[in-house]
Amino acid sequence: MVKWLTHRTLTPTYVGSNPTLAAIYFGDNMKPEIVSILGIEYKIEYVDNPYEVDINKREPLWGQIDYWTRTIRIYDNNRPQEDIWQTLMHEVLHGISEALNMKLNEDDMHDELDLLAIAITDVFFRNGWIKNLTTTEQELRKEDNLS
Ligand SMILES: [Zn+2]
Repeated sequence: MVKWLTHRTLTPTYVGSNPTLAAIYFGDNMKPEIVSILGIEYKIEYVDNPYEVDINKREPLWGQIDYWTRTIRIYDNNRPQEDIWQTLMHEVLHGISEALNMKLNEDDMHDELDLLAIAITDVFFRNGWIKNLTTTEQELRKEDNLS
């Protein structure tokens, strides 16, 4: 059986290496608040308490995606941007795997999914598509947005 997604032209969410563009998409702190995963929109929340990441607040987590409420929660607490993106990519990959019914979601430890998240994040940062901003750069951006 051919799934409908196979024949669909997917519009890539272009982030690009243009810092101004990136600022528009992600805001000053480079943290996106919403993500469309193959047409399904998830709200992204950043929390500073790892127990708040868990929708049931039972265990500390780095990140969690909830397919029912369509929310992704990420442990923030001013962690380095690259670490936050890695967690976000991990949860996005869960969303992709769920949407496409892939085997990645069936592995309890999801080691391969996590390796993919690490690799994708590395590609984004290594190529400068997403940048770690210095405090000065963040301040400059805020001024730019005000003027
Ligand atoms: Zn996971």
